[in-house]
Amino acid sequence: MNPLAVLHAAQLVTLAGPARPRIGAAMSDLRIIRDGGMLIRDGAIESVGPSDEIEEKIAEAEIVDARGRVVMPGFVDAHTHLVFAGNRLDDFERRARSETYEEIAKAGGGIWSTVERTRAASEADLLAEAKKHADWFLRCGTTTVEAKSGYGLTVEGELKILRVIGQLKEQVPLQIVPTFLGAHAVPKAISAEEYVEIVIEEMLPRVAAENLAEFCDVFCERGYFDSDQSGEVLSAAKRHGLKIRGHVDQLTNSGGARLMAELGATTADHLEQTDEQGIVALKKANVQPVLVPGSVYALGLSRYPRAREMIEAGLAIVLATDFNPGSSPTPSMPMILSLACTQMKMSPAEAITASTINAAYSLNRGDEIGSLQPGKLANFAIFDCEDYRELAYWFGIPQTHSVYVRGKRILKL
Ligand SMILES: [Zn+2]
Repeated sequence: MNPLAVLHAAQLVTLAGPARPRIGAAMSDLRIIRDGGMLIRDGAIESVGPSDEIEEKIAEAEIVDARGRVVMPGFVDAHTHLVFAGNRLDDFERRARSETYEEIAKAGGGIWSTVERTRAASEADLLAEAKKHADWFLRCGTTTVEAKSGYGLTVEGELKILRVIGQLKEQVPLQIVPTFLGAHAVPKAISAEEYVEIVIEEMLPRVAAENLAEFCDVFCERGYFDSDQSGEVLSAAKRHGLKIRGHVDQLTNSGGARLMAELGATTADHLEQTDEQGIVALKKANVQPVLVPGSVYALGLSRYPRAREMIEAGLAIVLATDFNPGSSPTPSMPMILSLACTQMKMSPAEAITASTINAAYSLNRGDEIGSLQPGKLANFAIFDCEDYRELAYWFGIPQTHSVYVRGKRILKL
């Protein structure tokens, strides 16, 4: 592959900086180079700087003229439920009639309807749907996603989803980090205690032995798994060498943030109801919050997590889509940037940091992706705008021009 030179970007948003997640004022420092360029060789970034400096080094390079456009790291979406069958259009319509999440679940909708369809689907069908979703992410400028299981809820059902994630990884350019979320809901006809035992005794050993996931997640919520059960699952996962994270404090404040801190989780996700003590606990234990405002928006709710307080407390915030058919049917990180700025009062720069470099660290990939710096993978997106703030400002309109993974153009719109 010839070297590739990207030249004359109106803004080359590098997010260059020290090898750690960004906190406080550093979240606003995007290290933008005007008329910026970079040289890419063998899928990795070789040099970054003003275009005239890069032009001196490019002898045989293929040129990408980014004049009038923003070039930045591909988004890293650190929380998605990418593999599932079907959709939840009926739930969507019920919510429009003001029925609640719990009412919809009782009426046979909710997560259970997705579980039934996902269980019934063949691996080939699930893979075909997942490929369509992967393409959606790429079109939005996302080059890495975390992807969870959680719609099988049986040993075979969960393993099937994780195997589909594994196949997807091999077959699409989108980079994928797999997470085991067996404790996503309690199957019908057994108790939460009985199911937790299956997750710990039967699922986790196989997930670990077959190397199917890097993280283990739980849904810690009233009616799902309580703090003790969540703690048991995640402690067992740690013993199997998995990193841990949790869906916590989404609908009620159950002390989930504190639990994640006690367990030494990498991230605590959702946090809509987390209070000041929860924020303090996360900071003490260095847990990264993963905020998913798309699910607040799509559920028609109004209580967003306290992003400003978290930033002021020095937490290395991450933003993600929570892409899933029930509560957040969007793969669009630009949409999430819009919500972060309008609903959570984050600045556009903080939102970009939270969805690139901070997200990369939360997935244990901060040394590879999330910024445009020499030695990192050439995973980047070019957008049809001259100022990065336009990504959060113009909402509902795609601005992606092209997307590159490991220096290879995989999408041109
Ligand atoms: Zn989720």
